[in-house]
Amino acid sequence: MTSILENRPLLKAEIDKVAEVAGYLWQKGWAERNGGNITINITEWVDDGMRTLPAIDGPRPIGKKLPHLEGCWFYCKGTGKRMRDLARDPMANGSVIRILEGCTHYEIVADQPVLPTSELPSHLAVHDDLLAKGSPYRASLHTHPIELVAMTHSRKWMEKDVATRMLWSMIPETKAFCPRGLGMVPYMLPSSVELADATIRTLDDDYDVVMWEKHGVFAVDTDVMSAFDQVDVLNKAALIYLAARGMGFEPEGMSDAQMQELSDAFGLAK
Ligand SMILES: [Zn+2]
Repeated sequence: MTSILENRPLLKAEIDKVAEVAGYLWQKGWAERNGGNITINITEWVDDGMRTLPAIDGPRPIGKKLPHLEGCWFYCKGTGKRMRDLARDPMANGSVIRILEGCTHYEIVADQPVLPTSELPSHLAVHDDLLAKGSPYRASLHTHPIELVAMTHSRKWMEKDVATRMLWSMIPETKAFCPRGLGMVPYMLPSSVELADATIRTLDDDYDVVMWEKHGVFAVDTDVMSAFDQVDVLNKAALIYLAARGMGFEPEGMSDAQMQELSDAFGLAK
């Protein structure tokens, strides 16, 4: 069987990034069992040959109408699939789908009839919102970073921007590489419409990374590697905080003036 990635080096490079990130998620202990999801908008790498390919499954309903996804294509992790397996074989543990006319249904085009993640409606709703805003972001990532999730078990850190300020203050790179900080969403049922809507509202409130209380993060960026990097720097900051606490003291953190100086010097968003 010929893969859709064959003779499409640019598309393959994007899928390879998904596989690389999936491996990191597993190595970091953030992707137990089939935990986590990745969905990337691959429309810009779709060529005429792909457009003529027949569907191998579907059409299936998305569950909602997403008007900005007309003509869009996505690579999605498969439902029940493991990140550690996806890292080895992305096209056996995820699939390429296209959105059908009317934006209410999708069909699977390649390589195998792997059903997309059960979180597909919420991931696609985020992509719909990104396109509506004219955002250059094409990747969404959900994962379970241990220390960041642990923090959400405290009311204090769930207050708006309290965790962001502490994480930014641990090491200058955190603010430089996650300049919008960490948006907080209170606990809601996984896969629910309410959680998807709250995630979009929080992204629209000018965050790239959203924390789901007692569950995980949802991050967006231009590509999956950049989305992963934002989560990685935030969790690194949480680990530095934890290390200081483990040494028996509350870390001082950079001052507000030092963080403002950083924003001014590097032209950061906040
Ligand atoms: Zn999850």
